[in-house]
Amino acid sequence: VKLTAQVKLCPTAEQAEALRKTMETANEAANFVSERAWQTRTFHRFALSSVCYHDVRATFGLAAQMTTQIINVVAGGYRAKREGRHTYRLTSAITYDSRVLSWKEGEVSIWTLDGRQRIPFLCGPRQEAMLARRCSQAKLVTRRGEWFLLIPCEVEVRDRIATSKALGVDLGVVNIAVDSDGEIHSASHLLNVRHRNRRLRGKLQRLGTRSAKRKIKRLSGREARFARDTNHVISKRIVAKAEGTARAIALEDLKGITKRQTVRQSQRATLHSWSFHQLREFIAYKAELAGIPVVVVDPRNTSRTCPECGLIDKKNRRSQESFVCVSCGFAGHADTVAAGVIAGRAVADPPIVAALSG
Ligand SMILES: [Zn+2]
Repeated sequence: VKLTAQVKLCPTAEQAEALRKTMETANEAANFVSERAWQTRTFHRFALSSVCYHDVRATFGLAAQMTTQIINVVAGGYRAKREGRHTYRLTSAITYDSRVLSWKEGEVSIWTLDGRQRIPFLCGPRQEAMLARRCSQAKLVTRRGEWFLLIPCEVEVRDRIATSKALGVDLGVVNIAVDSDGEIHSASHLLNVRHRNRRLRGKLQRLGTRSAKRKIKRLSGREARFARDTNHVISKRIVAKAEGTARAIALEDLKGITKRQTVRQSQRATLHSWSFHQLREFIAYKAELAGIPVVVVDPRNTSRTCPECGLIDKKNRRSQESFVCVSCGFAGHADTVAAGVIAGRAVADPPIVAALSG
């Protein structure tokens, strides 16, 4: 299916001005082309191009590719509807293709009347994953003074599998993700990088110079990219495992987690929360594409519940690592046990089973 990804551009003031000027000029050109098409009753794009291409280039100073795009858009408009002359607002979306817009890590290189501009962009993890399958065209739009690119992406979505089994995943800090099979998806390397950066940042902050501030910015950018890569790898592995074993993925409902006052919550508070949310979103998005249902379960007492006898007791959790049931003696790695409880809830809860089979 074709879905549209949206990214937010972060231009400097001068770059925003260049975008505005380019957009307005392109729309003036579109009105010029539309007028010419209407006057000469020339609506096919090749014919229209021969009627006005050179005049548009000479009058508006737009790149060849932009000019061709504008003519195509106007011709497309008349193909759809030919009852009157079409007009374009100066802030209408304009179309770019790969010759006037290219993508690099975290930024685009975009053609403007003031020359090519390299502009950083922001987008969510879902959008980012979609961009891997982007089509060559993109639309530049502006809303309330902000700039966005809308990019059609060809995304393959598989039919959702029917299953009554679940792979439980417990997300945390020490172990970023632990699943109910006992696999620990750790990110010790990521934690090391964070730890080292935190000390470095402290030092640089005390220095307080301009170059120190620049270095701090670079550090956090690098750390964010590193965390994102880690989240991509972990989410991919978890979804592949659920897919390979035809299971749903069960996660704790985050709404409940923020209300709880537990050891695990204070542990979560130290986690970069955006990274935590990013991993959840990566898992949800990749699962959706793979047709794997994601089940969200009640998070209450997942770390204190014995999966064998069902006893809920704070004392069941001896430490960060160890779970030993005070009643039946069932023991295991605390995060694995919690992931098992999460998986169990996904299967046991009647509405969730209904959702899975439906
Ligand atoms: Zn027990």
